[in-house]
Amino acid sequence: MTKLLVATHNKGKVKEFADMLADLAIEWLSLDDVGVTEDVVETGSTFRENSVLKARAYAAATGLLTLADDSGLEVDALDGAPGVYTARYGGEGLTAVQRYQKLLEAIQQVPDPQRTARFRCVIVLAGPDGEILGESEGVCQGQIAHAPAGAGGFGYDPVFYLPQFGQTMAQLTAAEKHKISHRGQAVQAIVPRLRQLLAG
Ligand code: IMP
Repeated sequence: MTKLLVATHNKGKVKEFADMLADLAIEWLSLDDVGVTEDVVETGSTFRENSVLKARAYAAATGLLTLADDSGLEVDALDGAPGVYTARYGGEGLTAVQRYQKLLEAIQQVPDPQRTARFRCVIVLAGPDGEILGESEGVCQGQIAHAPAGAGGFGYDPVFYLPQFGQTMAQLTAAEKHKISHRGQAVQAIVPRLRQLLAG
């Protein structure tokens, strides 16, 4: 089995990748599993830059094939914000609920046709020498709802409305979300490259 480091301390995220790619002969490791405690500061201005920063730094620190992802929400009525600042939107120390409430307030007056938004996720694979071995992107289009609905998922899911389902992302099952989500699509798009790397 090939060891693959996922550039996160979040065991839930590692499990999500492992579940989505269960048929690959990979031993999935988190930063905590390999004893990495320091965090790479995400100074990039794009999701790709942040993923490259994380994948390179952790691969170089551990000598392991490393997968990093970066994701966030782009709201058209806010000219694409919060983008790479999604996790920090609204200020320091807020809960996820407080953050999406700030977003609802910010676009309170915006009519439905202009409430379009998308989640974007960029995945980057780096080798031990810091070389970029693969990358993929996934996008999930939707709209910002007027009020939250649903208890599934995390983050902005309760206010991310999917017209094709007539539901928010938080009202989908985990399996439904994986199929259409930005992260799910980026994961599926990186599979062929991962298979090549595992074979080679
Ligand atoms: P990161 O890529 O894990 O750093 O995610 C950045 C931020 O984007 C998270 O803190 C969430 O607020 C938001 N986000 C990313 N993916 C999702 C999702 O699938 N649902 C809801 N919010 C998300």
